[in-house]
This record gives sequence, structure tokens and C-alpha cells, in this order.
Amino acid sequence: MVDQSKTEPREQNQTLRQSILDCLEEGPVTARELSALVHIREKDVAPHLEHLEKSLRRSGKQLVIEPAECLQCGFRFEKRRRFTKPSACPRCRCQRIDPPVFRLAPQDDPASPNAQLHATPGAPRKKGGTQVGKE
Ligand SMILES: [Zn+2]
Repeated sequence: MVDQSKTEPREQNQTLRQSILDCLEEGPVTARELSALVHIREKDVAPHLEHLEKSLRRSGKQLVIEPAECLQCGFRFEKRRRFTKPSACPRCRCQRIDPPVFRLAPQDDPASPNAQLHATPGAPRKKGGTQVGKE
């Protein structure tokens, strides 16, 4: 037996994800901004972002998370790979947290955390720079 009524939310989700994707194409956004832009609750944004992250891999793009940051002590939630905002800082217990920011990047973007894994530490810098003078 096929319950036809169940096919509808699926389409809605796809439309919703397309809207989220459109917002991300415009520039970096937080979950709160996304929730306002596509008219869903902030806590409902995260599952859509997770889904988008997976489907983006096939299209040569990636979803980059700029880590959340504690406004009081500056602690950065670097290791956190989740899409939700942390509730409190593990270092100072402060609850004023700058939320994570999401943006799209090409998969070979040198500024992205993933690409940095492949970057060579101490790679040769640009030669013939400004350090002349003392010869
Ligand atoms: Zn803190």
C-alpha cells in the first residue's frame, strides 16, 4: 500500500533546501538569518544544512562552517562540526555566543578548513618581496 500523502512533505523539503541554497549563494549566513529568510524555525535549519552538505559534495562545492565564538573570552568552537549554536562556552560558561556562519565554497578553496589539511606547512613564500634593503 502506498500512502500518497507522504510524498508531499518531501517535495516541500526540496523546495526549502533550494531556497536555503539560494541564500547561501548570496553570501555567508547564520542559522537564524536562514530561518527568517525561508520562514522555518531556527532549530529546523540544521537538518536541512546537513542534507545540503552531503548533496553539495557531488556538485564540486562544499558547505563551510565558520566556527561559533564566545563573545566573552573569544573561545572558538573549532572542533564543533554541527550546525546548531552552542548554548554555553566550555571555558568561561558564558552564554553569549556568536553563532556559526555558513557559506558555500568551491571544494578546492584554499581558505576552507578542508583544503588547509592538504596545504604544506612552510611552503615557499613569494620571492622577490619587500625584504631587500640590507645587502
Ligand atoms: Zn568563553
